[in-house]
Amino acid sequence: MTSMDQDQWLRVRERLRAKVGEDIYSSWFARMELAGIVDDTIKLSVPTRFLKSWIQAHYAEKLLGCWQAEQPAMTRIELTVRSAAIRPLPPKIKVAEPAPPARELPAPPRLNGSEPHGPARPSSSVHEGLGGSPLDPRLTFETFVVGRSNTLAHAAALQVARGRRGDAVMFNPLYIHAGVGLGKTHLLQSLAWAGNIGPDRKVLYLTAERFVYGFVAAIRAQTAIAFKEALRAIDVLVIDDLQFLQGKSSQSEFCHTLNALIDSGRQVVIAADRPPSDLESLEERMRSRLAGGLVVEMGLLGEELRLEILKSRVAAAKLHHPGFDVPAAVLVFIAKSVTHNGRDLEGALNRLLAHSKLSGQPITLEMAEHEVRDLIRPQEPRRIKIEEIQRIVARQYNVSRADLLSSRRTANVVRPRQVAMYLAKTLTLRSLPEIGRRFGGRDHTTVLHAVRKIENLVNKDLSLAEEIEHLKRQLQE
Ligand code: ADP
Ligand code: MG
Repeated sequence: MTSMDQDQWLRVRERLRAKVGEDIYSSWFARMELAGIVDDTIKLSVPTRFLKSWIQAHYAEKLLGCWQAEQPAMTRIELTVRSAAIRPLPPKIKVAEPAPPARELPAPPRLNGSEPHGPARPSSSVHEGLGGSPLDPRLTFETFVVGRSNTLAHAAALQVARGRRGDAVMFNPLYIHAGVGLGKTHLLQSLAWAGNIGPDRKVLYLTAERFVYGFVAAIRAQTAIAFKEALRAIDVLVIDDLQFLQGKSSQSEFCHTLNALIDSGRQVVIAADRPPSDLESLEERMRSRLAGGLVVEMGLLGEELRLEILKSRVAAAKLHHPGFDVPAAVLVFIAKSVTHNGRDLEGALNRLLAHSKLSGQPITLEMAEHEVRDLIRPQEPRRIKIEEIQRIVARQYNVSRADLLSSRRTANVVRPRQVAMYLAKTLTLRSLPEIGRRFGGRDHTTVLHAVRKIENLVNKDLSLAEEIEHLKRQLQE
C-alpha cells in the first residue's frame, strides 16, 4: 500500500466524518482501517464481525460514495474482520447511533410453551442447578423501550438472544456498561428470557455475586468439578454487575470460565457499571479479554425515552389497576423532571399509583409534583419577572398584555388578570403595592383580593389548578 493510498484514506475519513457526524463516525468508523487497494476494490478492515455486518447493512453506499468522491475509479468495497490478535485492545465503542428503528428488526422469536401472559420460564434445571439468579418476568424485550441511548446495546442483545446452538459467535464477550438504573439488568434478563429457546439452548443469567456464591457453595459441597462442567455446558453465560466480582479465587475462577466458554465458541454477555478498563481489581489480561469483544455503553435516558418508558409502565399497571389514569401532562411533567434513571421513574409511578388507590382521588399535576418532589434533581430556582408572567398568562388565555393592565372588567380579562397577580405574588418576592403598580397602577387591596380569590378557586377547581401548574412550569423552564 502506498503512502498516497493512506493520504487518500485520510481524506475519505474526513468526508465520512462530515457526512455522518462525529457521533456516528466514532461509533462505527473510528476503528476501521485501510488494508489495501487492489484494482478498483478498496479493502477495509474492522475489529469485529458485528461492526462489519452493521456497516455493510447501513453504510456501504455512503462509504463507497466518499471514496468515489476522492477516486472515481473505485467501484467496490470489501470489508474484512481483523484478527483480534493484531489489535488486542480496541478503544471502547461509544453509543451514538441514532435509532435504527426497532421495527426494521424481525419480530422477536415466539417462545416455546409460553403462557398466554408473559414468556416461558427459561429451562429451569440449569438455572437451579447452578443457582442461577431469579428472572423478573416483567423484564423482557417486549417491555424494553429502545431509544437513542440504548439502540446498539439492544440490537446486540437481541442478536445474541436469537442465536442458535452452533451459530458462529459474532462478538465475544458482549460487554454492556452503564450507570445505575439505565437498563442493564432489564436488557440482560430480556436476553435470558428470549434466549432460552427449546431444551437444547441454555442461557444462564447470574449476578456476579451469585456466581461467587454458587462457586463457593459448590466448593464447600465438593462439587466444584461438577459445577465447572455444568457451567461449561451452557450456551450463553450472562453475568450482571461484574463490578461486584470480588476476591482472588472467584476472579480466577471467573477468568477460567470466561476463557473456556469463549475459546469453545460459546457466548458470554456481561454488564457492569463501568468499562472494562476501569475494573481495577481485575488482572490486566482479564480486562483486555473483556474489552476484546463488543463493548457498548448505554447512555442516560433521554427525555423522549423516559416518556415512552412511563407510558408503557402506565399501560402495564392498568392491566391490574384499571382505574389508574395518569393525565398526559403528568407523564410529561415526570419525564421532564425525574431525570436520574429508570428506577426513579418507576418509583414516581408507584407513588402515584399508591396515592390514587389510597385516596381515591384522580391524579393531578399538583398531586404529582407533591408526590415526586424528592426525586427531582434540585435546580437553581430561576428568578421570574412580572413581565414574563403577564406575557405567558396573556398567551395562555388568548388576551393581550395590555388587556391585563387595562381597566377592562369583562370576565375573559378579569380571570387572567387575577391569575397573573396570583402568580406574581407566589413566584416573585414583590410586595402587593408593587404588584398593583405593575398591573396598571392598581391598589394593593385589589391584588390581595385577586390572590385570595385564586387561592380559593384552586382548591375547588381542578382544571384551574392544572392551568396554573402549567403556567408555573412554563415560567420555571
Ligand atoms: P441497571 O441494571 O442498569 O441498574 P435496571 O435494568 O434495573 O438498571 O433498570 C432500572 C429500571 O428502569 C427498571 O425498572 C427498568 O425496567 C427500567 N428501565 C431502564 N431502561 C429501560 C428501557 N429502555 N425500557 C424500559 N424500562 C427501562
Ligand atoms: Mg442492574
